[in-house]
Amino acid sequence: MLDTAQSLIRRAGRQLNLSDEDIEQILKINAEHIFEIKLSSGKSLQAYRVQHNNKLGPYKGGIRFHPHVDLDEVRALATLMSMKTAAVGLPLGGGKGGVAVDPRSLSQQELEELSRKYVQYLYPHIGPDKDVPAPDVNTNATIIDWMVDEYTKVSGDTTKASFTGKSVKNGGSLGRDAATGRGGVIALSELLKAKGLVNKGLTYAILGFGNVGSFFATVAANNYPQWRLIAAGDSTASLLDNAGLDAMQLSKLKSAGGHFLGSKQAKQITNDELIGLSVDVLVLAALENAITKDNMAKVKAKIIVEMANGPIDETAHDFLSSKGVIILPDIIANSGGVIVSYLEWVQNRRGENWDEKKVNLKLKRYLTQAVLGVLSVSKELQVDLTEAAFIQAIRRLNS
Ligand code: GLU
Repeated sequence: MLDTAQSLIRRAGRQLNLSDEDIEQILKINAEHIFEIKLSSGKSLQAYRVQHNNKLGPYKGGIRFHPHVDLDEVRALATLMSMKTAAVGLPLGGGKGGVAVDPRSLSQQELEELSRKYVQYLYPHIGPDKDVPAPDVNTNATIIDWMVDEYTKVSGDTTKASFTGKSVKNGGSLGRDAATGRGGVIALSELLKAKGLVNKGLTYAILGFGNVGSFFATVAANNYPQWRLIAAGDSTASLLDNAGLDAMQLSKLKSAGGHFLGSKQAKQITNDELIGLSVDVLVLAALENAITKDNMAKVKAKIIVEMANGPIDETAHDFLSSKGVIILPDIIANSGGVIVSYLEWVQNRRGENWDEKKVNLKLKRYLTQAVLGVLSVSKELQVDLTEAAFIQAIRRLNS
């Protein structure tokens, strides 16, 4: 995964005629914290925080709890965060954290102990002006609230600006939980506007119906009823209904802890079948490397929205791009989360609490500008949207 991220940076750097030295400077990772967390139950877990670049502001990025977490993945995700914050014009850098664990194998007490011990180890290296972590895959406001509480205890900082993605009662921002999904809808609608297609009907499928995918679907259903969700997949199975799935119902099923496998709501298909459906838009909201050389030839969608980080590897990206598939890149499409994280951090620092309307308006402004910028770079330099987004990021990082 790191290879793909670095290669995209190299390509954009060469397009900008940067020297090899300048490109290496952008690829350079500033610091890596690799540690072991021992739980009182005897379990020992491998943990990471990678701080890639802080030229534009404090390191910023989520912490994920997942069995596949390893150093290469965290490095790649940290690098993508620096590109993301730069591409959308936030005064923040990029970092990422992770623990190699399946959180479902932990008790609630173990999960809390893990979250607190993560902060006990890391606290000298993080903080409102140094590095501001947030949720990512399998982490949420409850976990972040434990982390903030621990950070406050060990550091004495009471601003709560040390983490974002907190619960609203604990200094979190309204609109943060829906922000990544909402941002994806805004980004797609801006792309469709530019192509004169925003008011046209379209069909779409979502792979990954967790927090991001389910908010994408419900926000889309509210704002663009002419977009028909015909398939949705979670880690167990996909559901298909050509007449249209009810996003709200699926999202209720998931938040009640349900799974698509065995669900009677629609016809069941495999996730690979979902990827090969004849839809106008395919939304990838699961994990990285969902499309690789193994399944890229199956894709029939005209537009792909990358809501996960790195869901298409380099080979598949080049193949799909050469076939004329428009890929709305992750560092733009899923940037709604970090944009509202930034707004949360600003509110904490100013001691303010904005209403949801204000937050959503600001989110829309950042994202619209970012998409328009990328479209214009793409036209100016005759490059695809991924390359254009990386060029936009690198121009900011190098200015
Ligand atoms: N984990 C999210 C991402 O990958 C959000 C990061 C943040 O809010 O700092 O963009």
